[in-house]
Amino acid sequence: MTYRSNHPSGPNDTDAGIIVTDEFERFSQRNDIFTRAFWDDTVRSKHTDGFFASYRMEAAPRRGDGFTQRDFALRNASWLISDLVSNRDAETGKREGFQAPIANDTPVAAERAAIDDPAKISAEIKRIAAFFGADLCAVTELDERWLYASRVDTRDMSDAPNDLPAGITHVIVLGHQMDEDLVATYPSALAGAATGREYSHEAAIVMQLAAYIRNLGYEAVASMNDTGLVIPYALKAGLGEYARNQMVITPDFGPRLRFSKIFTSLPLSSDAPKKLGVAEFCNVCTKCADACPVKALPYGAPDVSTQTSSVKGVRKWTSDAKKCFGFWAKMSTDCAICMRVCPFNRDFTKWQHKIWLKLALSPLRKVALWLDKHRGARVKPAEWWAKDMK
Ligand code: SF4
Ligand code: SF4
Repeated sequence: MTYRSNHPSGPNDTDAGIIVTDEFERFSQRNDIFTRAFWDDTVRSKHTDGFFASYRMEAAPRRGDGFTQRDFALRNASWLISDLVSNRDAETGKREGFQAPIANDTPVAAERAAIDDPAKISAEIKRIAAFFGADLCAVTELDERWLYASRVDTRDMSDAPNDLPAGITHVIVLGHQMDEDLVATYPSALAGAATGREYSHEAAIVMQLAAYIRNLGYEAVASMNDTGLVIPYALKAGLGEYARNQMVITPDFGPRLRFSKIFTSLPLSSDAPKKLGVAEFCNVCTKCADACPVKALPYGAPDVSTQTSSVKGVRKWTSDAKKCFGFWAKMSTDCAICMRVCPFNRDFTKWQHKIWLKLALSPLRKVALWLDKHRGARVKPAEWWAKDMK
């Protein structure tokens, strides 16, 4: 089932916590803040140029603990597999995984496997996703509102058609856990290795899982940040709930993960969105907004943003993307202080954090917030280097 691309509401929106207004417009990828840094003079600066250049060692600055040669060396090495994929088709204006879907490395098999039980094949896909290394996997129907209205031709940053093969019906959403100890060192170039490692992991995982589906005779388009907004798909697939820090908070890893996706014609059964109680917690918590060094995160209730880099006509918490990315650019690395300090940034395999989660998602959420008041402090990058690797 698909929806008209400008449809203000869709099935399961309420359960997914998605509020779409009549002003809704699909997002053009040219307006995302990273793409604007190449064409919009109100975003582009010597700092943004330096930020992108720092992913090559000869342009990586040195600024003390967390920003030494080995910090940048680890961060840049962690991005390597993702970079190999995204750069392999650059001369055609397609930065795969970012400004274009990842191209099929294998064809759709001529012989199509018979599938008579969508629930069974969904369970199998989740098992194969875990086999390839995904930490979370869930399925939702294709909802065209969240596909980009256009993608970007990176040769001149112009709009380009954002096409998917015919017959796509479902989106498989995958979650990739970021390293807890590295996230504790944000902000630092070292912490950026937690981001880069998961982009490299997700590139391999979506390519392999998509190849498996194509080998069964069905379309499968491997996707990272390209082609559509992953957050609404993750919410509709029931992986978590949207939060003030603009992240999906999951009961598995809190906000400490990245998402990728596969668009497919495989006849899958969908997962249902779940209301967890995260929004109610965010209503009494402002730790992320308080900790943001440039005050880019909102206080108060969700709102309909008019910012260029935000999807139009969706009531939600929205950051000031220019302020946020301006901070990244000045540091020459990504920031996720708002992930680090979030009370949900915990290891939920441990019993004490499982109990805390139950409390946080109950009417006793203020007690849970109080219990969290001494957590979330930054770990010095030098301390990370000094301790034994897990
Ligand atoms: S990533 Fe950093 S700068 Fe951006 S909103 Fe979060 S804390 Fe603020
Ligand atoms: S820090 Fe608090 S307000 Fe921010 S996302 Fe986490 S729980 Fe919500």
